[in-house]
Amino acid sequence: MTKLTSKRQLIYDLLKSNQGPLSAESLYELLGHEQMNLSTIYRTLEKFYMEGLVSRNYLDNKAYYYLNVEDHHHYMICESCKHKFEVDCHMDGMFAEIKEKYGFNVLHHDLNFYGICKKCSQKHG
Ligand SMILES: [Zn+2]
Ligand SMILES: [Zn+2]
Repeated sequence: MTKLTSKRQLIYDLLKSNQGPLSAESLYELLGHEQMNLSTIYRTLEKFYMEGLVSRNYLDNKAYYYLNVEDHHHYMICESCKHKFEVDCHMDGMFAEIKEKYGFNVLHHDLNFYGICKKCSQKHG
């Protein structure tokens, strides 16, 4: 019986092994056989977020979570073809500025860029 493997660890591992951000619902599906209920997953994700372990992103009013790692990045979302493109994060300088100016310590952030991708803008002229 290794049932005491914490639920936390299971969720963390899934976020780690998954390439893209995951919603609580998709984690729930992935964890189906672990019999974890959705509210536990929500609570755990919220805890991760408060601890600065994950970043949260809203797409179509749904929260997606991904681990905070070194090569943390953001998404450029094409409003025409709905494709998501990764873009490196260059916010560190801004956080330093915020800290300096407001004494505010930024722990996490979410940010998406919306627009038209190269392919689509060529297509439409
Ligand atoms: Zn596009
Ligand atoms: Zn960032």
